[in-house]
Order: sequence, then structure tokens, then C-alpha cells
Amino acid sequence: MEIEKTRQIIKSCRYCLMCKHVCPSGSYSYFESDYPRGRALIMDRVLEGKNDYTKDMIDALYNCFLCDSCHASCEGDWELPQAVRQARYDIVARDLEPQRAKEIKESLQNTGHPFVGETLDPVRISSQKECDLLYVMGPYIRFKQHDIAKAAKSIIEASGDCFSILEDEPDCGAVLDMLGYRKEAENKGRALFNKIGHRKPKRILVSDPLLYYCISSLFKDWGLDTGKDMAIEHISGYVLRNLKAGRLDLKKFDERVTLVDSEYLCRFCDYCLEPREVLKEVCGKNFVEMRHRKKQMIATGEAAFFFNGGKVEGSLLGKRIAQEAEAVRAGTAVTLSGTAKENLSSSFSGKVLEFGEFIRELIQ
Ligand code: SF4
Ligand code: SF4
Repeated sequence: MEIEKTRQIIKSCRYCLMCKHVCPSGSYSYFESDYPRGRALIMDRVLEGKNDYTKDMIDALYNCFLCDSCHASCEGDWELPQAVRQARYDIVARDLEPQRAKEIKESLQNTGHPFVGETLDPVRISSQKECDLLYVMGPYIRFKQHDIAKAAKSIIEASGDCFSILEDEPDCGAVLDMLGYRKEAENKGRALFNKIGHRKPKRILVSDPLLYYCISSLFKDWGLDTGKDMAIEHISGYVLRNLKAGRLDLKKFDERVTLVDSEYLCRFCDYCLEPREVLKEVCGKNFVEMRHRKKQMIATGEAAFFFNGGKVEGSLLGKRIAQEAEAVRAGTAVTLSGTAKENLSSSFSGKVLEFGEFIRELIQ
């Protein structure tokens, strides 16, 4: 059993209530099984052979947002989401995963995106064939959040760079891995890795936090090394670098702005600095921080695609973030993912823009 590898985590979490208040899935449903301790108790029973997985137990493990909020506030540094991932590998190995997970897997394999039953066209943006900079989108941007790709294109061109994109860009495998399909995830990751390698770019640029996490972290786990000659950069790092080099000229923004951190960029990849450095540069004193920020951020639901059978209400997820943004009297909230933007938009009284979209509005 894969959960055997996380025995210590499960044993430490099963009696503990200390992070209950930060868990978004539990705060959403109020079921004990949707809080960290509830999940640890479930895994402990399976680990000790007291129970086999039941449907309710499987649902509770799939309801986890894998947001790392519990781990981020854990004094003992216990990484419960890692145990949940291992449990999902076990569940898939026994063909016990929920039907919805199977449907998402099939959608990813047949269409390249996880939006079950939707017929979607990939974004069309003009690019050049052989540039040192390769912009990789990920399925969320490529199939749904087209405006984020268009904003990135405007930023790259305003910085005087040429860029390429991949034809028929494969999914990187992050969602499959989160659903427990380890082997399929790795195969997807390898397909993307080979396609990138074929282009030999010097720099891989991404806007999507989940994709940044996939290439910079999961690829390593799968033995896929992009090497020293191929740097990966998030759009916020790219903007910061070009601002400092005087290659990108942005107008100053004179209204109050706050930043909505990303669990997959800041928490999992420690990439918290660059977006706020850019906002400080263009907004000066108008950049205001929310109470919960950086690793203590409130989860945005970037990997909450499964909760409640995929019917998560974004407005409930965005509500607490909106309250914090309003408490610091921000008129604009800048998010780092399209998902965070969507989840926040219906609750926040001000304007919500994804990072690249915000920067595009400031290009001179
Ligand atoms: S992650 Fe830490 S704080 Fe949360 S239940 Fe486990 S031991 Fe307790
Ligand atoms: S990862 Fe997030 S949703 Fe899952 S148990 Fe921890 S805090 Fe709750």
C-alpha cells in the first residue's frame, strides 16, 4: 500500500484538530470527514486493516483540495496532502476511484482538457516557429481562459521578445497525478517534455501555477530533467526581469491593489516574491497586502476541480478572500490563476484581474 509510506503523517494527524479552521473543504461541507483529521482517521483505519475503502471514505479523500493549507499551518510540518495523494494511488490501483475521476481522465486523454463533455477549441494566438522563448499554456488557459494567453502574448511582444508555442500542446499530467493516475500522468508529462525538448527553447514561460508546479516539480519526480539550459519562468518573474532591465515600460497604477496568492505557485513552489515585487514597482504605496498571504494564504481552489462531484461553488471559495481584500480597501484584486479569478469574481465588489491581464492594461 502506498499510504504505508506516509504512516507517520497519518498517525500524527488522526488525533489533531489544530488546522481544522484553515481547511476549505471542511469549511465548505462541515462534514468531519472533509477536515484533515477526518481524512487521517480514514487512512488510518485502512492502514491498520480495520476497514476497506467504502464509497464515503473514497469521496472524502477525493474531496480534498490538495491545497496544503493544513500543512502550511502545521507546527509539526506534517504533510497531510501527500498522504491523500498516496491514498488516491492505492484507490486507483484497485479500480475504486469515483466515476467522475474516470470521466476526467478520459476527457484529458481524448480531448487534452479536463472539462468533461465540453467541446472546446484551443486558443488561437499567432507566434513564431523558432524562438528561444517557448510559451506553454496548460489545458485551463489553452481551452478556457484564452484571455490569459492573449495577455501573455502582449507582454512578451511589449518586452521585445519573440516566442513560440507548441502545436497540439499535450497536458502535463498534473491533474491525472492528483486524481491518482500516476502512470498515465507520467506518460502525459513525458509527452510534453519530449515536445518541449524537440523545440530546444532556452526559456519556458508559463502563466498557469499548476503548470509551473508540474514542470518544475512533478517532472523531477518523474526523472524528466529540463536541464540548466532550459529555464522555467512564471510570467510574474518574466515581467520583473524585463522591468528591471528597462525592456518593459509600464504605466503607474494609482488605485489600491492587492495580490491573491496561489497555492501551487507560492505554497508548493515557493514562488511568492516576484508577483508582489512587480506590484510594488507599478503600484507603489497603493499595493496593499491582505492579512492572510504568502504561505498562510487562503486557498483559492486551484485543485478543487473534484469537490462535491465537480460542482464546487466558486463564490463560496472566494468569499473569505474577498472579505480580506475588502478589509484592506483594495479596489482591484490581482490573482495568479484563472481559477482564482473565477472564484473571487462573484464575491468581490471590486475588479478582479489575472496577473498578466492586469499588466497588459499598463503597457505603454
Ligand atoms: S497537518 Fe498538522 S495541524 Fe493539521 S491535523 Fe495534521 S498534525 Fe494537526
Ligand atoms: S489539503 Fe486543503 S482541503 Fe485537503 S485536508 Fe488539507 S486543508 Fe483540507
